[in-house]
Amino acid sequence: MRRPSRGRAFLDLEGPAPHIPPARVPPQKAAGPRNERVFLRMSSSTGPYPAGPAPAEGVAPKPARKLLIRTWGCQMNVYDSGRMADILAPLGYAPTESAEEADMVILNTCHIREKASEKVFSDLGRLRETKKARAAEGRQTVIAVAGCVAQAEGAEITARAPWVDIVLGPQTYHRLPEMVARASRAAGAVIETDFPAEDKFDHLPEARAPQGPVAFLTIQEGCDKFCSFCVVPYTRGAEFSRPAAAILAEARQLAANGAREIALLGQNVNAWAGASPDGHTWRLARLLRELAEIPGVARLRYTTSHPRDMDDDLISAHGEIPSLMPYLHLPVQSGSDKVLAAMNRGHKAELYIRLADRLREARPDLALTSDFIVGHPGETSADFEATMRLVERIGFAGAYSFKYSARPGTPAASQPGPVAEAEKDVRLQALQAVLRRQQDDFNRACVGRVVDVLVTGTGRHPGQVAGRSPWLQPVHATGAAPVGAVVSMQLRAALPNSLSATMAHEESAAA
Ligand code: SF4
Repeated sequence: MRRPSRGRAFLDLEGPAPHIPPARVPPQKAAGPRNERVFLRMSSSTGPYPAGPAPAEGVAPKPARKLLIRTWGCQMNVYDSGRMADILAPLGYAPTESAEEADMVILNTCHIREKASEKVFSDLGRLRETKKARAAEGRQTVIAVAGCVAQAEGAEITARAPWVDIVLGPQTYHRLPEMVARASRAAGAVIETDFPAEDKFDHLPEARAPQGPVAFLTIQEGCDKFCSFCVVPYTRGAEFSRPAAAILAEARQLAANGAREIALLGQNVNAWAGASPDGHTWRLARLLRELAEIPGVARLRYTTSHPRDMDDDLISAHGEIPSLMPYLHLPVQSGSDKVLAAMNRGHKAELYIRLADRLREARPDLALTSDFIVGHPGETSADFEATMRLVERIGFAGAYSFKYSARPGTPAASQPGPVAEAEKDVRLQALQAVLRRQQDDFNRACVGRVVDVLVTGTGRHPGQVAGRSPWLQPVHATGAAPVGAVVSMQLRAALPNSLSATMAHEESAAA
């Protein structure tokens, strides 16, 4: 399937998040209302990534070089960082966590959070000093800025930070080896922020990174929805679905590398419509059914979805595919039809409520989570009350909630009726209080249940294992079990950031 033509924009973008959950959440310091997730969820990180494969016998190994990738933003950026490590491994780049020993540093950026660009430039300021110190010792350092800030800012980055060698957008990182070669030859920086006609995914190496028991797999990129407040259609381009055969091959590889849970990623993941091996177009439900057949894959998830793309088959799939976890992140943003129209969301509150009911009919234990923006231009108190009614009507297991803040260049930035900051604070506080209560209720309702927990590592205390429940809650239990095992545990208590459990019985990791 050809990639649709992609738009490009140079925006100075700041404001609320679109509906891809962030991969990392900084520690909260201040009390009071703030843009936050009200979630009991494990954070994730890029984690260590491996060096490339051992050179073939008789082939001289490449000189060891060190690569540091810093990742901000959503799980899709985490996935992209892993793939960049895969691409650079054959050039001899091995991972490091230290800027001082890194021969190459990649900042994989996100343009969702407020002041995203400024944070990147302050990191670049520190890297300039590191680069100078290394140069004084005769060591070269390649600095690259990737991701959505790179896409949005383009040449502005090297104008402000001329020590940057490479600027690359999310659609061009498969060309990294060529860019590294050009950067080491060229006097100036290499800037690649086009949306190339060739499919990036066709040019990526097989995923080699041992991603552990939980793996992310991007199946869809871009967005055609153009919500009033969101930058994604400008930075990631039009919706594009990877072909089913490529996704299935990558999933098999991930399973062979030890993945037990695969999370499918996309800005609008349930808009996925990919070419199938039999020449037809499959939708997400069919893809999930095929993925569920792969030996070793015990759990499937997908994120993030749009209400407009929840088709009947996908709703049914939640009741029919045992390995599809009872968890769905489905952003609604507002409960007011007037605000939803101003946001250009393309659906009404009633549609969302109907979807929630149907999903729960299909899978009664489904944990539904969402995103909210309060204080969108034109939102009145009555509109906000409609959001509160929707929240009470649905009952969420968690949510991300944000105050609206304008990003120049997006339609909402010029819409009339801005809401005063103080009023946004009051509304956010009220919303978060309800969402927090609902989350606590959900977690407490889990206590006493015996559930399958995927073991992901050791716990905080000696003799503990850590894992995740079917509803994506972090779980800690005393006992031993190998990473990757799916273990039956009884949930004993809901703690502030996790559930505690005791082992019921173990299932072999090799099941
Ligand atoms: S649907 Fe598209 S435009 Fe709307 S919030 Fe999600 S990514 Fe942004």
